[in-house]
Order: sequence, then C-alpha cells, then structure tokens
Amino acid sequence: MRAHRLVLWDIDHTLVDYTGLGIGWYGSALAAATGAEFRTHPDFGGRTERAITADVLALHGIEPDEETIQRMWRELIAAVDRARDTLAESGRALDGAAAVLADLAGTDGIVQSLITGNLPEISRHKLAALGLDEHLDLDIGGYGSLSARRSDLVPHAVKAAETKHGTEFPAESVVILGDTPHDIEAALDYGAVAIGVATGRFSAEQLTDAGAHLVLPDLADLPAVRAAVLGQP
Ligand SMILES: [Mg+2]
Repeated sequence: MRAHRLVLWDIDHTLVDYTGLGIGWYGSALAAATGAEFRTHPDFGGRTERAITADVLALHGIEPDEETIQRMWRELIAAVDRARDTLAESGRALDGAAAVLADLAGTDGIVQSLITGNLPEISRHKLAALGLDEHLDLDIGGYGSLSARRSDLVPHAVKAAETKHGTEFPAESVVILGDTPHDIEAALDYGAVAIGVATGRFSAEQLTDAGAHLVLPDLADLPAVRAAVLGQP
C-alpha cells in the first residue's frame, strides 16, 4: 500500500544541535534593534520565535509591539546571515538525521516539511549549513513567525501542504516529530501522530508523560524511525 504521510520535523535538538548560538543572536539583535543591553532571556526550548521575541523585549522593559518585533527579526536574520560561513562549524547534524530525511524522501507518498519555532529564513540557513535542506519542502511548513502558540503552526502547515501537493492530509496521516513537550502538545492539539525524539533536554519519560504516541531515543536507528513514521495508523 502506498504510504500517505505529511511528516513535519522540528529543527533544534531534533535534526540539529546549535546549542548556545541562539542566545548570542538574540543579544546582538536586541542591541541593534533597541539599543538595550541583553541581560537575561526566557526559556527557548520548543517555543516559537514570536513567543521568545515578545518575552525578550518584555524582560528588558520594552513594549513588544509588532513594529519592534519585526525590527528584532530583521536583526536576528542579519545576525544569522553574518554567521553563515561558520554555521557548519558551530553546529552538527544529529545522528541519523540526514539518512532518515533521505530515506523518507525516497518513499512514495511522503511529503516532508517543518513545524519549527524558527523564522523561515533562519530555518533554511540552519539546515542548509549542515546539508539537511535537500529533502524538506521549505516552501510549506509552519514557522515561528506565525504565532506565539506552537499549536497554531500545524493547521497552517497542513493547509499549505494540501494546497501545494493537491491532496488531503487527514490528521491521522500527519506525523510530527520533536524534542520537547511543546512539540508533542502541538501534534496532539491537531490530532496528529506525536513522536518524541529524546535528543534535547527532555527525557523519553518526560515526552511520554507529555502524551507522545511513541518516543525514539534518537534518529540513529533508521528502521526504527521508519517504522515510527509509517507504522502509526
Ligand atoms: Mg526542538
């Protein structure tokens, strides 16, 4: 039987590890956009850029209005642009990520894209630097500019995929993989299949407790990842 799946990947700590870079980028973006000195930051894990940016501004006593948020994002994108040549050295693709993306791309009926808290431009840079952009459809997907709530990204991504590929993806054919309870919650809110990948700071037990249908220790075991993505109802 032909597989029919929309597979939506998280980026950070699911496919790649750029630990520590985001804080530096936010520091330079805050200084450039507002003149404020970066003193503190909110939790970044599994949250969207819209949520994080609003919190960073508020924590520095700056009103997070849309104009300031957009100015911060222009500076964030500029900071990542400046870092492009050294991105590959500052991060790493997680074990098995490249092989899994390529394998699923070669499986009939599968469309792969993103549900990520990152901005689209930054998503592209992070993945391209490590050679992981080839098999993901980055024209569609749900990105962190859309909403402070990760769950809001999912219907947007599914609709974009349906429009582009001219087919319907019922909720049970949508598979979302991520490393935080926020990823799991976003999947469950939509009625999608929620697969935890325990390569971030949350344990398999914590992701199971968050409601994941299945948790993988990492992406290294290709048959196991394939079975997880294709095997759910
Ligand atoms: Mg993540």
